[in-house]
Amino acid sequence: MKRDELVAKMRPILLGRREALRRRLSGELTNLNANWDRDDVGDDSDSAMGNQDDEIHSLLAQTDSQEIHRINAALESMDRGEYGLCEECHQPIASARLMALPYITTCINCQRNAEANRSRSADVDHSPAEDSDESNAD
Ligand SMILES: [Zn+2]
Repeated sequence: MKRDELVAKMRPILLGRREALRRRLSGELTNLNANWDRDDVGDDSDSAMGNQDDEIHSLLAQTDSQEIHRINAALESMDRGEYGLCEECHQPIASARLMALPYITTCINCQRNAEANRSRSADVDHSPAEDSDESNAD
């Protein structure tokens, strides 16, 4: 499939997904506010449960808003004509991968490399990132 065909196909999917997320997100935030209101008038034994609910809802809201950011980034890359290019190696990402994960930003090879580097970082000696001195900040 050509890139512009892919963009034409994926753009409405991304827009629809973003709309659904926004709607759900506003529902989650409403829920969050409702819990806070209830805690104001509730007694202490209820507020522990209420806080737990708040945490779950705010986690959901966080996940959803992160997804919206990724969708926005994908839509912006469509506008720039860069949609579907791997941000690591700048090679086209496979159409099938994009259709499964519309706002993915790396190709399968780069993702595998990144995962391999993470899991093998202990015995990899050619990684310049290994010398990070953040742990010496004390
Ligand atoms: Zn790549």
